[in-house]
Amino acid sequence: MVELFCATSNSHKLAEFRASCGDSVIMRKCPVTDCPETGDTFEANALQKAACYYRAVGAEWLFADDSGLAVDALGGAPGILSARFAGPGCSDDDNNRLLVRKLETVPEVDRTARFICAIALLRNGRLVATFRGEAEGLILRAPTGTKGFGYDPLFHFPPLGTSFGSIDRDLKWLHSHRGKAFRSMMDWLLSK
Ligand code: IMP
Repeated sequence: MVELFCATSNSHKLAEFRASCGDSVIMRKCPVTDCPETGDTFEANALQKAACYYRAVGAEWLFADDSGLAVDALGGAPGILSARFAGPGCSDDDNNRLLVRKLETVPEVDRTARFICAIALLRNGRLVATFRGEAEGLILRAPTGTKGFGYDPLFHFPPLGTSFGSIDRDLKWLHSHRGKAFRSMMDWLLSK
């Protein structure tokens, strides 16, 4: 049985990870830890977060993720700045309003975007692997659905014909950037 520490203070994410970690892993929550995120890629930030939590927890197996939304019409923004798109201390609603406004004049064909998730897995404080998952979609002109978090209500996912804000957690997990990255990590971990 592997005891795996999850370096996040985001309860939505922890619930998503926990729901799919299976019987061969015990997922542990880390104490809330304030970590800098100064990297310029998702992978660099995930590693920085993992190393910072490792200093606080010292677990054998520990992973951290970093994720965000890359919008093609904005040159990949908000990207690694997704949480702070509308400025320091902003809410999900602030970010969503700003995104809607910035894309006001962008036609349907150019509203392509993807959620990206990078996971860094440490063993005894050393990076053993990174994993990446992506989900491709289109940015809506107005929020749809009340489920999920962050940009979910603005993210239309063509394979399901609806937004990530309109689907249940389990269905989102099957298709999401985080679900894909997490499953890659679990496959890797359980094959060891
Ligand atoms: P974090 O730095 O990985 O915690 O996430 C950065 C930001 O990306 C979050 O605050 C959300 O705004 C956005 N984000 C990441 N994943 C998702 C998702 O699954 N749905 C909606 N927004 C997300």
